[in-house]
Amino acid sequence: MSTKTLTALKAALDPKAWSEDPDELAPHVRDWRGRYQGASPLLLKPSTTQEVSRILSMCNETGVAVLPQSGNTGLVGGSTPQGEVVLSLKRMNAIRAIDADNDSLTCEAGAILESVQGAAKDVGKLFPLSLGAQGSAMIGGLISTNAGGVHVLRYGMMRELVLGLEAVLPDGRVLSDLSGLRKDNTGYDLKQLFIGAEGTLGVITAATLKLFARPASTAVAIAAVESPAQAVDLLGHMKDATGSVAAFELMPKIGLDLAVNHLPGARHPLDSDPAWTVLIELVSPEIDRAQTLMESALESAFEKGLVSDAALAQTEAQMAEFWALREGIPEAEKAHGKAAKHDVSVPVSRMPAFMEEATAKAESLLDDALIIAFGHVGDGNVHFNVARKTPGSGDDFVAACAPVTDAIYDLVDKHGGSISAEHGVGVLKRAELARRKPAEVAVMRAIKQTLDPNAIMNPRVMLDID
Ligand SMILES: Cc1cc2nc3c(=O)[nH]c(=O)nc-3n(C[C@H](O)[C@H](O)[C@H](O)COP(=O)(O)OP(=O)(O)OC[C@H]3O[C@@H](n4cnc5c(N)ncnc54)[C@H](O)[C@@H]3O)c2cc1C
Repeated sequence: MSTKTLTALKAALDPKAWSEDPDELAPHVRDWRGRYQGASPLLLKPSTTQEVSRILSMCNETGVAVLPQSGNTGLVGGSTPQGEVVLSLKRMNAIRAIDADNDSLTCEAGAILESVQGAAKDVGKLFPLSLGAQGSAMIGGLISTNAGGVHVLRYGMMRELVLGLEAVLPDGRVLSDLSGLRKDNTGYDLKQLFIGAEGTLGVITAATLKLFARPASTAVAIAAVESPAQAVDLLGHMKDATGSVAAFELMPKIGLDLAVNHLPGARHPLDSDPAWTVLIELVSPEIDRAQTLMESALESAFEKGLVSDAALAQTEAQMAEFWALREGIPEAEKAHGKAAKHDVSVPVSRMPAFMEEATAKAESLLDDALIIAFGHVGDGNVHFNVARKTPGSGDDFVAACAPVTDAIYDLVDKHGGSISAEHGVGVLKRAELARRKPAEVAVMRAIKQTLDPNAIMNPRVMLDID
């Protein structure tokens, strides 16, 4: 990138809207996992949509590649620059409006998920997206990766939670639909193009999100199951018996052991030390109803032999403890060593066969393999991670896992699944995507060519336009 272009960009912006300070740039050029280290000549920090528009039109004219960044918690390398200018949304974090009667909230792309959840709560509403990185991940990044999390089972992915978007196109034009309408049949639903586009088509600057009624009661339990197959049977039972399952998360013994060892003050919820557990959350609009539903559904699950042990959280603090165990697994796994991670989905009915075959395959290909498979089994999404039993593995181990990854993705294909359930494609899976979905990638490239003919938006991400 020429010095002339950088100088022109800086001159056109408020001094608060850019930085070349290496200390300020540092957290923006490394990913959360520490897997990708990048570099950027300039950090741009616009505070308005107009500033974003000015930046993009200048970059478009001069062919400067731009990497939009929100909370930088992405797990597929899509938010780490390799020479692009970083356009951070962190200063655009306002909650612009809440319309309680319309069940909608409009905020800027840099609003942190936790603050959006809090703003909804302040008006007695619920914004249901919930995930481990919610204290850092921002709405722009969550929309750009079509984030999932633990409540997809009841409320859907981010795609289902967006009513409208404001987005800046690479040439600086602004598309804005923040009306909060639930019905609008005026042609193509353009917002859907930007959801899950990982910053390849433009910059999302604001969004109108769906709000929901807050449940009057919530119950959380951890139950012991023999196997993923029994977990799927239990899921069916809980859905039929209660009609109110909000989350259903699978945890292997090794995942809980790691979380308990890693989290200060954490302890095992069950004395029986089972091979598998599930965390179940039920919600109800009636006071205390979720607890009574949970008790009676678990009782009938015991009678049917679907559960061998269970603990029902008695207080809000205990619910938070149970959730901390589940949410603590990624951090605990990271502390154990680097793992080859596979965020994959298959139809729920195929999950047991997939898990069995993938475990056998990974163990046959790799000595010392430690399978840490956990996550959102209620919506067919498992984080099938392959680590080493011996702690302290590094990047060399992850590289050595390439044949395992290939075999796991072949099994995903065999079972009609997806190689990226919720984390996106980024740079991590772009080659796999091109290999496994060539027709779809060709259509995506054609769309990109139309909206971003100079390929300035995240050119290395998802489609690898370079
Ligand atoms: C501990 C932990 C737990 C997690 N759990 C989950 C989980 O349960 N479910 C889940 O889905 N994900 C999960 N993630 C992954 C991550 O939090 C999500 O991918 C999240 O959506 C990323 O948001 P972000 O604000 O950090 O985006 P970033 O990492 O900054 O960006 C992600 C991508 O979006 C692009 N982008 C960012 N902002 C914009 C914008 N305004 N306009 C256009 N493009 C943009 C970036 O260029 C990049 O390609 C987890 C991550 C961690 C660290």
